[in-house]
Amino acid sequence: MSDGMGNEPISIIGAGLAGALLSITLARRGHRVRLYERQDDMRRVQVDAGRSINLALAARGIRALELAGVMDRVQPELVPLPGRMLHDLDGALTFVPYGQRPEEVIYSVSRAGLNCILLDAAEDAGVELLFRQQAIGADFTRQRVVMQSDDGARQTHEIPMHRVFATDGAGSVLRRAMVEKLGVACTEDLLVHGYKELTLPPFPDGTPRIDKHALHIWPRGGFMLIALPNVDGSFNVTLFLALTGPESFETLNSPDSVDAFFAQHFPDVRHLMPDLAAEFLQHPTGIMGTVRCQQWSVDDKLLLLGDAAHAITPFHGQGMNCCFEDCRELDALLRDSQDWARSFREFESWRRPNTGAIADMAIENYLEMRDTVRHPKFHLHKALSLELERRHPQRFVPRYSMVMFRDDIPYALAHERGRIQNEILDALTQNADTLAAVDFDAAARMIEARLAPLPLPTR
Ligand SMILES: Cc1cc2nc3c(=O)[nH]c(=O)nc-3n(C[C@H](O)[C@H](O)[C@H](O)COP(=O)(O)OP(=O)(O)OC[C@H]3O[C@@H](n4cnc5c(N)ncnc54)[C@H](O)[C@@H]3O)c2cc1C
Repeated sequence: MSDGMGNEPISIIGAGLAGALLSITLARRGHRVRLYERQDDMRRVQVDAGRSINLALAARGIRALELAGVMDRVQPELVPLPGRMLHDLDGALTFVPYGQRPEEVIYSVSRAGLNCILLDAAEDAGVELLFRQQAIGADFTRQRVVMQSDDGARQTHEIPMHRVFATDGAGSVLRRAMVEKLGVACTEDLLVHGYKELTLPPFPDGTPRIDKHALHIWPRGGFMLIALPNVDGSFNVTLFLALTGPESFETLNSPDSVDAFFAQHFPDVRHLMPDLAAEFLQHPTGIMGTVRCQQWSVDDKLLLLGDAAHAITPFHGQGMNCCFEDCRELDALLRDSQDWARSFREFESWRRPNTGAIADMAIENYLEMRDTVRHPKFHLHKALSLELERRHPQRFVPRYSMVMFRDDIPYALAHERGRIQNEILDALTQNADTLAAVDFDAAARMIEARLAPLPLPTR
């Protein structure tokens, strides 16, 4: 059946964060959209909302949500996080602001809450939602996607490969079909570290047990614990740790071993989590990795988008933000052209270097979060970065700020400028242990020579 624009309906496979937002942007352009999801409708039935209970939302994600007209609905669900709260072994706390302007904050948001808002908005935009429909394969010769409906009988059926968007996440069936059947080059690099999610409940009256307006980090060198607040005063706590080895998820396999591990490494938070050992042993250990795929589209038929195209590790809090930016940038290309194949090609050739850059920066950030933050030089570099930004606001913007607060700076540019800025910081702090000892004339010379002016922030 054809829609009012003379086109077949568009199919989106996977109604997670990327698929739901994409369906809204396409429907708002006047297309008829069908959104297929293998799970039940999470607004009516409790389903596994996927990885991580809450997420950090930043400028790139917010901009895309605004363009899709859903930010008003999302706003009440946000907890602002102006900085990191570092917990050392003795329980001493150090607050490190993320930026230096009032608007330079990130936000904690419930994954399921956000996904439900997007599904409601998709329905309001006229998207047809089809649950318990799983893509199980693809036939590129006959141009069909093979689906299985889980309505008790597990029936299979096919949908035409006509403008299919694969937003089926990091383990994408459609990406793997492209690899197997079309010989597309793709790597899936699993990290040797995994993660475990735990709960830090509020006091009975709803008061949070730790400061609600910070992303808490317990950096311990080879591993770390983090906590993100929820609107109800609870925290979602995540342990990132090696999967195997002497101190690993493999060895934390009894209530005593879990308790002893937390008592040794996280004594200040252990007693705040009453169900610690039980949750630890019940909850699954998640795995993380980076997907780098050399081809995201098949003519004008199929496009991978979101984690399906470029899953990254979570250490920069950018996976979802990056997926939302995908939706916004694709929308801009489709606005300017009726040629789908060309838009798909342009999308992947512009996005791939950028998603590759954020994948690299996410891995680099893991080392920073779990280890580098413990060293005095880190704090000097942070303070100096902010001072250089005050003195040279158009040329020196800390890398974290470019990634999290500047949606007008592509990831690849942030990565490249961040590398140069690091060299400048290293040079300036080689013989300086305090800000007062830094040679700011030399700094000005280096910055003018090596960092071209950036455009002024667009918001
Ligand atoms: C521990 C952790 C913490 C994270 N923290 C952050 C953060 O703070 N900030 C941030 O920006 N990002 C974060 N991320 C990354 C973020 O979760 C992902 O980038 C984001 O969820 C990707 O969205 P997606 O829609 O592409 O994929 P998914 O969210 O995985 O959604 C895929 C959807 O497709 C469905 N599906 C899968 N297979 C099929 C199929 N065969 N047929 C039909 N449907 C299918 C799934 O059920 C799901 O609904 C984190 C990730 C992890 C693991």
